[in-house]
Amino acid sequence: MTQAQSLVEDLLSRSPEKIRNSCGLTRLRERMSEEEAEALDRAIELIRLDTNSGKAKVYSCEWLTGVLNRHGHTISASTISRHLSKRCSCE
Ligand SMILES: [Zn+2]
Repeated sequence: MTQAQSLVEDLLSRSPEKIRNSCGLTRLRERMSEEEAEALDRAIELIRLDTNSGKAKVYSCEWLTGVLNRHGHTISASTISRHLSKRCSCE
């Protein structure tokens, strides 16, 4: 799939149901390549498994937010944190 095709799809596939059922992180994941989406799943798993608290955390929502933003994916830490604690619209 070319970049242009997926842009067209994205522009034409904004259904109210989709918006209601998934949060920003899931919608971001849907736009990623398969490899990127798998890496994101791994990162989410690592954050969930990281039992350290506060600054001792190796993997945190803030870390993931920083990485995603650095790569041009605009997302807020609160969106990621809601998804991780399953308080978002997609879980
Ligand atoms: Zn979610």
